Amino acid sequence: MDSIEDFFDEKCRLPSPPAIALKILEAVQQEDNSFDDLARIIAADPALSVRILKIANSSLYGLVKPVNSLAQATAMIGTDALKNIALSFVIVQDFQDAPQGSFDLNLFWRRAITAAVAAEVLGKNIAFKDQDIFASALLQDIGVMILFLSDPSAYTTVLNDKRVSGKSLCTTEKEQFGYDHAEVGCHFLKSWNLPSSICQPIRFHHSEAPDEEYRQAALVLDFADKISAMYHGVRSNSKSGEVHLGLARNWHLSGEQIDRLIDAVGERAREVLDLFAIDPGEIKPFSQIMQEANEELGRLNLSYEQIVLELKQAKQSAEKLAMELKQANDSLRELAVRDGLTGLYNHRHFQEVLQAELERGGRYGHPIAMLMVDIDFFKSVNDNYGHPAGDKVLKEVSQVLVSLVRNCDFVARYGGEEFAVVLPVTGASGAKVLAQRLRRGVEQKEIEYNGKLISVTISIGLAASDLTQLAISRAALIESGDQALYRAKQNGRNRVELGTF
Ligand code: GH3
Ligand code: MG
Ligand code: MG
Repeated sequence: MDSIEDFFDEKCRLPSPPAIALKILEAVQQEDNSFDDLARIIAADPALSVRILKIANSSLYGLVKPVNSLAQATAMIGTDALKNIALSFVIVQDFQDAPQGSFDLNLFWRRAITAAVAAEVLGKNIAFKDQDIFASALLQDIGVMILFLSDPSAYTTVLNDKRVSGKSLCTTEKEQFGYDHAEVGCHFLKSWNLPSSICQPIRFHHSEAPDEEYRQAALVLDFADKISAMYHGVRSNSKSGEVHLGLARNWHLSGEQIDRLIDAVGERAREVLDLFAIDPGEIKPFSQIMQEANEELGRLNLSYEQIVLELKQAKQSAEKLAMELKQANDSLRELAVRDGLTGLYNHRHFQEVLQAELERGGRYGHPIAMLMVDIDFFKSVNDNYGHPAGDKVLKEVSQVLVSLVRNCDFVARYGGEEFAVVLPVTGASGAKVLAQRLRRGVEQKEIEYNGKLISVTISIGLAASDLTQLAISRAALIESGDQALYRAKQNGRNRVELGTF
């Protein structure tokens, strides 16, 4: 690996300082009359004069009264400050023509100028008197540009390595070249005869300065760059944390002071970048950036809540739909198994239920009984009161039957004025008691129709499985019930008869 001297001697074809920068430097180095010389040099470049006056009047220096001449400007901000501004302008301008390749020159100067403003603002806040701090901060990373210009592909490798490894830029540069941008920058600016007060803080802006004289300035550069990175870099939030911690620890600034300082840098950098003819990009006070981020976060939360609400509503209406569908299905199923006039189960369903109960009884050894119910002389109800009265009687008798059976019993309209009742887990004697209860209930019921009271009776044929030792079929049970009903009619109606097998 080459030494830094080899690098400067052989590898690096350094840009030579712009003529006007040389003149400014020479003028300032002469102790006496330096202002007159400086003013003359600057005045020879009218564009430069205008810019210098503008910057002297900018919020960076916060002058109470506007200054109209270089002499006034010098009186207010000092010869050194004026010199530094002039130098900064010519150097930034000079490097505008550097071959860029993949190097984002605009970002480089945006960050450098913001760092210079940050150093100036920080210096004022901590009462650090150093007329060179603006130029120092501005040029602190000039070594990066020099290294890039000397070997663009090697430096691109450095930047990629840094991204991948997470190591610091200086460490990665040292691994690649043997020296870092702080050393290169210092070396380079010395070769331009810039004073130690500018070069030395740059040399140590990433490390502890061994020399007490430059330690404070180097520290200011370091934090000025971090503040600048909050505006132009990535991970602004973690940088903000570092800046707060560092400024509080080193200079005992309060959180509020630090917030104000950071905002002031953003505001002033905008103005100064403009004067340097560098596109300021998206720069705005950091607190505004944070506020906007918080508002955005609020909006995101809001829309998150909105989405949750909409999902809840969608879920509710889906559940409601599912419920309605279930109800519709249930009522369709009910319709399919019910008799339209009486609301009792229909014949087909009676057959299914009877079959199911017979099988269940067989499986568990339970008895099962069935009643065949027929209204007596129903034809004469129709004949005497009309068909609608007959319908009403059918409905009322149905209700009487339903009201008198147990919950587990099952009443169906068998057809016409005939009903069937299935009595699960019921033997002949229990069924007989129930049948008599039904018979009496109907007998006692007075059915009102058009102001007239109608009474009817029923005959019941009872068939019970426990009357036979054999497994019994549905047809046999119905047959037995039918026979018993026939006998009830034969034997005088309004009575219960027990079926045989
Ligand atoms: P029995 O005592 O021998 O059973 O005599 P009944 O008159 O009740 O028997 P029959 O079978 O002779 O007459 C049944 C009548 O029931 C005939 C029919 O018109 C009537 N009927 C059948 N279904 C309905 C109905 O849905 N509504 C009405 N109003 N009458 C019906
Ligand atoms: Mg009848
Ligand atoms: Mg009949």
